[in-house]
Amino acid sequence: MKNNKFETEAIRTQLERTQFLEHSVPMYLTSSFVFEDAEDMRASFAEEKNRNIYSRYSNPNSSEFIEKVCKMEGAESGFAFASGMAAVFSTFAALLNSGDHIISAKSIFGSTHSLFTQFFPKWNISTSYFDINDLDSVDNLVQSNTKVIYAESPTNPGVDILDLEALAAIARKHNLILIIDNCFASPYLQQPIKFGADLVIHSGTKLMDGQGRVLAGITVGSSELIDKIYRFSRITGPALSPFNAWVLSKSLETLALRVDRHCSNALQLATFLEDHSKVNWVKYPFLKSHPKYNLAKKQMKAGGCVVAFEVKGGLEAGKKFFDGIQLLSLSANLGDSRSIVTHPASTTHSKLSPEERQSVGITDGMVRVSVGLEHIDDIISDIEQALG
Ligand SMILES: *Cc1c(COP(=O)(O)O)cnc(C)c1O
Repeated sequence: MKNNKFETEAIRTQLERTQFLEHSVPMYLTSSFVFEDAEDMRASFAEEKNRNIYSRYSNPNSSEFIEKVCKMEGAESGFAFASGMAAVFSTFAALLNSGDHIISAKSIFGSTHSLFTQFFPKWNISTSYFDINDLDSVDNLVQSNTKVIYAESPTNPGVDILDLEALAAIARKHNLILIIDNCFASPYLQQPIKFGADLVIHSGTKLMDGQGRVLAGITVGSSELIDKIYRFSRITGPALSPFNAWVLSKSLETLALRVDRHCSNALQLATFLEDHSKVNWVKYPFLKSHPKYNLAKKQMKAGGCVVAFEVKGGLEAGKKFFDGIQLLSLSANLGDSRSIVTHPASTTHSKLSPEERQSVGITDGMVRVSVGLEHIDDIISDIEQALG
């Protein structure tokens, strides 16, 4: 079959029509599915047939969403979850045993960090951390019980860029599974499997839905690994609801269009902030001043929706800036059509100790903007007046 372009697959990957010949795929709001006869039921449960049995295992709407994301990421197979964190937790829980060891980047999503530090130790699963700017240190962290290397790129909230190909080479050398949380890039901007990742995780809540409506998560990768994740998940029940799967599958039809605009708005805001007298520094992967600009260009189609910067004057100035914001939302989400400003030190990363925050580059005055789809002139003018 012809391999269509990304935008085409995002729209044309869909379930077969029913007898009603609908153009847009309907919702299958059903918990369970029926069988023709005893033999059909036996064969279905024996997995001799590939068909829906119960929506905790699979549902047509989830399957369509999974197939789309697999095409976008160049993956063989996937499983869809009720949230990004359900995807993160279930992926690890399916692949690891008690006594196993994870090597993780230091700068990761706050709840993932809490999972590693507060909960996995209960099951005797330990984690060591590396700095994504010092991949030479990773070799020394490998133990006989290490199973997985885990990282994000761009990172949250500092928008640092990790060399995916170099990390994949380290994972291969030690026979470890490389898992990349690709949520900040979306599959439109970056496909980690191309660079050697084994599994890719997304919070569908962010750019994939992009309109702040649903929680969702997905893990995609090799059929062999996904089968283990599927076996675990069909028993433990973190499955995505058919309604949310339907919403997401529709959202993906416009992913490329939306993300293009997010990125052009973000680059314009970052360029504006670079010249502002009340700003200490600005970080955006596609600004020439970004320390990993060339790597970002190699790995990503554009710079993403998140811009990080530091307001001059520390915590006090940061608070004043937040209270001055009028149009943009003060919220913790990202990848939404509405622009969002966040103060990581007091919100998403408040569970980290000040030393841990320091080590991942989160300063008191640091602001993270998830640049939305409003007109760029209005986004800039709100930030400009708040800085004033
Ligand atoms: C939001 C987010 C998650 C968690 O996703 P939820 O859908 O909120 O559970 C995981 N990783 C990253 C990078 C995120 O931004």
